[in-house]
Amino acid sequence: MEQKNKIKKDIYIMEAILLRSKTYLSHELPLPSLVIYLESFFRQLKNVDDTWLDKCMKLCLDIEVCYAMSFVDDEYKDLSKEDTQIVEDALHEINTLVEKKMQELRAEISTPDKLACRVCGKLQGDLPWGEDGKTPTFDVCYCCGVQFGYEDCDVESLRKFRQAWLEQGANWFVPKEKPKNWVLEEQMKNIPESYR
Ligand SMILES: [Zn+2]
Repeated sequence: MEQKNKIKKDIYIMEAILLRSKTYLSHELPLPSLVIYLESFFRQLKNVDDTWLDKCMKLCLDIEVCYAMSFVDDEYKDLSKEDTQIVEDALHEINTLVEKKMQELRAEISTPDKLACRVCGKLQGDLPWGEDGKTPTFDVCYCCGVQFGYEDCDVESLRKFRQAWLEQGANWFVPKEKPKNWVLEEQMKNIPESYR
């Protein structure tokens, strides 16, 4: 139980990292604040391995270097176009790493079946149908675009939805969320037995 709570705390911190990073990318958070948040959040994580953390810290460092370079005469100036790109690329990489680790941690404290989209098998950030399997979040799957609680509310309807999605080329509903080396067949293995 103790361990489960520690993992939950890490997930909470990771959510905070993603939120800050997305807020920065949508130009609502200034770089100096982002830099402060990122470092301190990563340092608080307890249930991650060193290799993973090193990768994240290195990306944070890339961002910090750009930040440092933005000081002219001791005054903070906007980033150059090149540095903006470096920061954004680093953040996208951080997001991918964090999302993947969050999924692993969530899988550790929950039944994996409950995390998977019933249509495409993508593991979700939140349990799409709740802990009891009866309380849909009404979120949309970034991969197949199903809305949990609507098209996936019975087997017949979700199979129809899946088939149409596959026939149209299994395109990602939110293309920028698609992992670089995504394999459809691998992901579909996550679909719970009773929804195949
Ligand atoms: Zn899906």
